[in-house]
Amino acid sequence: MNPFPPYSSFAEPKLSGRYITNTHIDPLLSDYNHSIIGHSTSGLPIYRIRMGTGSSKVLMWSQMHGNESTTTKSLLDLLRFLNTNPDWLDNLQLSIIPILNPDGAKAYTRVNANQVDLNRDAIDLSQVESRVLREEFDQFSPDYAFNLHDQRTIFGVNGKPATVSLLAPAFDQNRNYNSCRTLAAQLASTIFEGLHPMIGSQIGRFDDSFNPNCVGDAFQSAGVPTLLVEAGHYPDDYEREKTREYVFYAYVLALKAIATSSFSDISVYCSIPENQKLFFDFLLRDVRYLENGDMKRGDVGLQYKEVLQNSSIAFQAAFSASGDLSHCFGHIEPNCEKLDWFDFKIEESAQNVLNTLDL
Ligand SMILES: [Zn+2]
Repeated sequence: MNPFPPYSSFAEPKLSGRYITNTHIDPLLSDYNHSIIGHSTSGLPIYRIRMGTGSSKVLMWSQMHGNESTTTKSLLDLLRFLNTNPDWLDNLQLSIIPILNPDGAKAYTRVNANQVDLNRDAIDLSQVESRVLREEFDQFSPDYAFNLHDQRTIFGVNGKPATVSLLAPAFDQNRNYNSCRTLAAQLASTIFEGLHPMIGSQIGRFDDSFNPNCVGDAFQSAGVPTLLVEAGHYPDDYEREKTREYVFYAYVLALKAIATSSFSDISVYCSIPENQKLFFDFLLRDVRYLENGDMKRGDVGLQYKEVLQNSSIAFQAAFSASGDLSHCFGHIEPNCEKLDWFDFKIEESAQNVLNTLDL
């Protein structure tokens, strides 16, 4: 297994930004062994790519939440990398579903066309997309599974944005570790140790409350080591292109560990700090503002809403919280001196405030 060349040499150049749909990946699939394994609620194809004939089988699926596209971009980078570095596949057999929820991807929604969260449908299998994934899981019979998502910018760890978060989901209410979950946690340890020199402490561990309706928990319960990977915020990277690169490295680190059966110790995973909801996109500290007619002094947090406009995602700021937010952080914490002569109303347009601050 050769060391991999610089990321820029194989990153898929035809994908960028947050809005990634079947239309974007369709033209890329001809380079790979792909097929249609089902159709979405509104009839869009659900694609699967197979790669490698090795003994360790790995199932990876992305965009079961339609508006979570970063891990999909990283998957297409991975495919491009493996196409030119086939020795990496000697011991691997991959089944990759890049967009499980193409209707949600097109509409830029978390849910599918029936407004159902597919990651709460693992028991009922009420949705066609859920059944497609379960059938692939049953037929392919993977040795490892990767459940790939994006997380919101609110998540932080160690007072920094959580650029990548990992979870070895629980398989029971008591959140015990059996051999299956331990292996998933060891995979997470391996990723952490590989990424840590690159992004330091910006790696979090997700809350492991057991929910059998979540697909990761269900697959873990079925005895297949399953790892949840959440792509998160990196400073000044709302298009998540930098995060995409780190997620790609996470994939490569994990696949190398699986191919060589060499995993880091579970204690590494257990020592990763848990994600906390402590971030706003903007945090205005110690400002004067009007709220419901009352003049107040305190902190104001603004959060972006992601809105689909003309086939791309617009980021529209909105007021999110006010009061004493001294325990929180802002991805941007502007100098607010200019607001001293401008009493803004918390009910009014957040964009006006940002304009005043030249943001
Ligand atoms: Zn998600």
